[in-house]
Amino acid sequence: MYAVLAGGVGAARFIRGLTRVVPAGEVVAIVNVGDDLAHVGLRICPDLDSITYWLAGLVHPEQQWGRSDESHTVAHELRRFGHEPWFTLGDRDLATHLHRTMRLHEGLPLSRVTEEITAAFGVEVRLIPVTDDPVETRITTADGRDLHFQEYWVGERGRPEVTAVRLAGAETARPAPGVVETLIDADAVIIAPSNPVVSIDTILAVPGLREAVGTTPAPVVGVSPIVGGEVVRGMAHKLLPAVGAEVSAAGVARHYGELLDGWVVDRQDASTIDEITAHGIACVATDTMMDDVEVAAALAQRCLALADERRADT
Ligand code: GDP
Ligand code: CA
Repeated sequence: MYAVLAGGVGAARFIRGLTRVVPAGEVVAIVNVGDDLAHVGLRICPDLDSITYWLAGLVHPEQQWGRSDESHTVAHELRRFGHEPWFTLGDRDLATHLHRTMRLHEGLPLSRVTEEITAAFGVEVRLIPVTDDPVETRITTADGRDLHFQEYWVGERGRPEVTAVRLAGAETARPAPGVVETLIDADAVIIAPSNPVVSIDTILAVPGLREAVGTTPAPVVGVSPIVGGEVVRGMAHKLLPAVGAEVSAAGVARHYGELLDGWVVDRQDASTIDEITAHGIACVATDTMMDDVEVAAALAQRCLALADERRADT
């Protein structure tokens, strides 16, 4: 069984490739929930939904998140009542949020509702939200404000300078059922090419997670989300400096530090291999731009091979 620490789109593109090289039923993704928000009375889980729609083959092809063949009638009608939906609400996507919100109101934990949603979409990869408890990523800006991650990223389009990032509620959050066991029992743990600060660090901020990734007998291998010194998409370049990390493939490897047994960088960053290896992290370069699924599958295969090499070393 293969465990993947997962944010949203970067992780979704990777996991889709991974399911071409190992059976989907052998893949368990532990998914960030720091981005989740309550909006127009609904519970929205952007990272869980991005992965679900990608794996179901129903993701919006240009946006890379949300549903394909989407319309926005409900969002438009909400304006009649003075609600300005600043967070995109597609009609098809809304059905997911409605079902989730109903079931949460009935008392089901998010991890159970997520099982229902993935089953309804025919997704065989198991998605586990890292915690069922309420947590949220908060952004401190240079002008002294404290914003929910989505207010910063969607509401303010990522413009404010960021000085700190934290997962509010983490102190009392517990890992969702199966999360720690998955990490300990896995044949390999893969850190997806996701945002290191607001996807991976927010997973590791849940008590017990960093310890589980640090002590699992499984090799831990990550894929760099930074290619040629730049983010492929998103805001990692704005957030890495706020946590004291360099915006480079090597900078992210150093940021994860001793959690990593192996690190996969893009061919464009092959010159950093020696620097990363000097930190005791086995490093290889390959194509990591997963615009087509064949590249994603080859990348996943390379990760598993590196994990096998590291397992044999120990
Ligand atoms: P989000 O929550 O939807 O932003 O998704 P993630 O946290 O999973 O991923 C965002 C990160 O994934 C960004 O830092 C991107 O640079 C990275 N990313 C996205 N697609 C790719 C890709 O094809 N290859 C690599 N190496 N990184 C990617
Ligand atoms: Ca996200």
